[in-house]
Amino acid sequence: MNIVFFYAVPALLVIGTVAFMEWFAAWSHKHIMHGWGWAWHKSHHEHHDHALEKNDLYAVVFAGFAMAMFALGHFLWWPAWWMAVGISIYAILYFFLHDGLVHQRWPFKYVPRKGYLKRVYQAHRLHHAVEGRDGCVSFGFVYAQPVDQLVHQLQLNKRGFDESALKEEDQRAT
Ligand SMILES: [Zn+2]
Ligand SMILES: [Zn+2]
Repeated sequence: MNIVFFYAVPALLVIGTVAFMEWFAAWSHKHIMHGWGWAWHKSHHEHHDHALEKNDLYAVVFAGFAMAMFALGHFLWWPAWWMAVGISIYAILYFFLHDGLVHQRWPFKYVPRKGYLKRVYQAHRLHHAVEGRDGCVSFGFVYAQPVDQLVHQLQLNKRGFDESALKEEDQRAT
């Protein structure tokens, strides 16, 4: 078997799947979680002090799907195995950025002050800066639009928003 096929195709499958997952996560966050799937996602948009949210069931669904893809790849169709690797890498990025960095579900506080991490942090804080399921912005996670564009979108949506989302001091996001 030739070497390009052996390394390049799996690498492309993994990178392509990570990119696809960012698109799919943003799409499903907007159209499913803020649509007919709001019953689970609502828990993530409310203040609470529980360790778990009903919204975490989405992570369980995604994990089940990744496991099914690993099995499919192992037994029937090998490309699915590399796609499952891509889904898993995306899940790690997502948990680090969303659950860790923004929502601080880990036992220490770190608020990024500059660069990419600050942009991701503020963009998702703006997602949570309006009440309820409608008129929200910034549905993606790993890619974040520039913060001034998001603020402009909120103004176009005619949604007042909690401007403390843009403040630099350390405060727990909800
Ligand atoms: Zn949301
Ligand atoms: Zn969130």
